[in-house]
Amino acid sequence: KANRLFHEADTIVDVNGIKIGGNEPLVIIGGPCSVEGDESTMKIAQAVKAAGGCMLRGGAYKPRTSPYAFQGLGTEGILAMVKAREATGLPIVSELMSEDKIDEFEEYVDVVQIGARNMQNFQLLKAVGKMKKPVLLKRGLANTIEEWIMSAEYIMAGGNENVIFCERGIRTFEKYTRNTLDLSVVPIIKQKTHLPIIIDPSHATGDWRLVESMSRAAVAAGADGLIIEVHTDPEHAWSDGAQTLKPDKFRETIDQCRQIAQVL
Ligand code: PEP
Ligand code: MN
Repeated sequence: KANRLFHEADTIVDVNGIKIGGNEPLVIIGGPCSVEGDESTMKIAQAVKAAGGCMLRGGAYKPRTSPYAFQGLGTEGILAMVKAREATGLPIVSELMSEDKIDEFEEYVDVVQIGARNMQNFQLLKAVGKMKKPVLLKRGLANTIEEWIMSAEYIMAGGNENVIFCERGIRTFEKYTRNTLDLSVVPIIKQKTHLPIIIDPSHATGDWRLVESMSRAAVAAGADGLIIEVHTDPEHAWSDGAQTLKPDKFRETIDQCRQIAQVL
């Protein structure tokens, strides 16, 4: 179902009227790594909106490497995102980690994120395939493009054809960056499939100083959008502060990317 051979036209995924894919304008998603409460989420959402962001991201269920690290606010975090959506109109993107939260996500979330660590959680993919919400499918830390496309196929086989790919860097020997951003996936995904693809330069690099340039490169490569970690106070963010942009830098990045998109 994802194969370009059987579906020549680009699929355009519609999120509350915001369209991703084809020749639609660049979709830039911003927001904190973790939702940290009503007040900070509202403040960040307003900053994301003022900077020209199209959607709000924020994790309420966090796939942390250590079981002792902050695991996310859960339902309380989802509800903080809902309040921020009510105030700003920005659709909300959040990661679903397990099937037992599907009803909650169906009710409240606009885009269901499947994280890198769950890219091959086939049971979860099948369950998400039955959902009505668009799915942002992140590439696994060490997965091939073929495997990634097959994961999209799992979701689509269940009846949910609104899948957006998201490259977030892969594991290599390189240590200067958290992961290695593989931008060659953009033209390859577009060649092999008809689905949209966005880039996450935050998790790909692990370093806010690299986010702006990698965002520009992603757009030049033909990405349909970006998902970027943004916080009003990255130094005190509860997770991933080192790769998180302040609102001013986010705005600059958006402006540069939109200029590049215009000449493509
Ligand atoms: C995230 O976007 O919050 C996240 C955990 O990313 P990834 O699954 O790509 O590591
Ligand atoms: Mn993060």
